[in-house]
Amino acid sequence: MTGPRSEAQVLVVGAGPAGATAAYHLARQGVEVAVLEKSGFPREKVCGDGLTPRAVRHLVRMGVDTSAPGWSRNRGLRFVSRGVTLEVDWPESNSFPGYGLTRTRHDFDQLLAERAVAAGAVLYTRTKVTAPLRDASGRITGVRAVCGPDGEPRDFSAPVVIAADGVAGRLGLAMGVTRLGKRPVGTAVRRYYRSPAKHQDPYLESWLDLRRPDGRILPGYSWIFPLGDGRVNVGLGVLNDSRTGTTDIRKMLAPWLERTPREWGLRGEEHADGPLRGAALPMGFNRLPHHRQGLLLIGDAGGMVNPCNGEGIAYAMEAGELVADLVPQALSRPSGPSRDQLLERYPREVATRLGRYYRLGRVFSSLMARPLFTSLVTQNAVKSPPVMAAMVRLLSNLSDRPGADAVDHLVNTLVRVFPRDKELGARHR
Ligand SMILES: Cc1cc2nc3c(=O)[nH]c(=O)nc-3n(C[C@H](O)[C@H](O)[C@H](O)COP(=O)(O)OP(=O)(O)OC[C@H]3O[C@@H](n4cnc5c(N)ncnc54)[C@H](O)[C@@H]3O)c2cc1C
Repeated sequence: MTGPRSEAQVLVVGAGPAGATAAYHLARQGVEVAVLEKSGFPREKVCGDGLTPRAVRHLVRMGVDTSAPGWSRNRGLRFVSRGVTLEVDWPESNSFPGYGLTRTRHDFDQLLAERAVAAGAVLYTRTKVTAPLRDASGRITGVRAVCGPDGEPRDFSAPVVIAADGVAGRLGLAMGVTRLGKRPVGTAVRRYYRSPAKHQDPYLESWLDLRRPDGRILPGYSWIFPLGDGRVNVGLGVLNDSRTGTTDIRKMLAPWLERTPREWGLRGEEHADGPLRGAALPMGFNRLPHHRQGLLLIGDAGGMVNPCNGEGIAYAMEAGELVADLVPQALSRPSGPSRDQLLERYPREVATRLGRYYRLGRVFSSLMARPLFTSLVTQNAVKSPPVMAAMVRLLSNLSDRPGADAVDHLVNTLVRVFPRDKELGARHR
């Protein structure tokens, strides 16, 4: 029993930032695209809700008016560590806007999905993809889904399928994509609080001295991100590493918030708005390959969170835009090896753009698991404004290429000295 069958030129599984961005840019080029999303909108997604200028750039490219009500602007990052506080503005840049944003995922994702629909994509909500459909050679030809409250089965077919189904990434796994256990993974929790004192803070605040209950410093940070609607998003995230041992980070939030000034309203249950929730962050391309038999992986489904700072939205959108640049050309070719050859350009292009940077990120995250290095960053670097300004540019991947100033040149040179990521199986710049 498969129920009715629907056809499109491209199927996008998942309407998070990755899927909505891909669908928007595909639909703008006249491609028939169907997006299958298991939830209904608006819906919650566990996130810090913070957007760097890198993510804002993608919103602007999708024609989103970021000056409209509902967006809260920030001018940079404030670091707090062991009594030191340092504010660093987002860099002036030729490539990125000079501001960041916050907006809860409650309606952020809906807004992006609506942009895709306005561009011509067809969105099926409450449609959960359960399995790939494959031809005799194993190539994907569509997906099987269950739809609506009764779980009515339905098949969707298309010559190209994009997996944008987030951290679980089940579609890719069903197609033989591998999780690379040695690559970094983070865990993060967040909770909303009503905080008149902090909700309009012009900076995203980040506390760097994250410690286990036994006092050992951890590779990660905690945050207070202002939402401008009376609330803040507070949370903490750590890199999972055998050297730092297992830590129940859910238990770390309350003790950390006890350290914040009482007038911020972040202590105890009184000002909490909703429960504490957490999820994993798949980093540094820890799922490969990014193209397998007609299936293209974007966003968390492809392990695309930046290992340097835990940012995932910008990279999910970036991959969505990139895939949409290449797929129309592939569709213009006859089905078979010549089309698949063009699809193979996608992982190569991801590698070219981000391979070396993510390699650097993996080394950085590995160093952060060493207490000596973590202490150096969180206790010494944080005292120096120029060092932290350079760190922001490096860790948020905000340098101009080609470089516009000495810091850009330094950051770009550092990235370039990192060797190719051979497992991406592709050319790197
Ligand atoms: C606590 C926490 C804090 C974070 N903070 C930040 C932050 O401040 N800034 C930042 O940039 N990143 C942050 N991230 C990372 C960020 O949330 C993700 O990287 C980002 O959401 C990835 O987008 P995506 O579209 O790939 O996946 P998702 O946003 O997870 O979207 C996947 C979509 O697929 C749908 N789906 C899943 N399975 C199926 C299926 N079988 N059928 C149909 N639909 C399906 C889901 O319902 C969902 O809508 C944080 C993550 C966590 C856990």
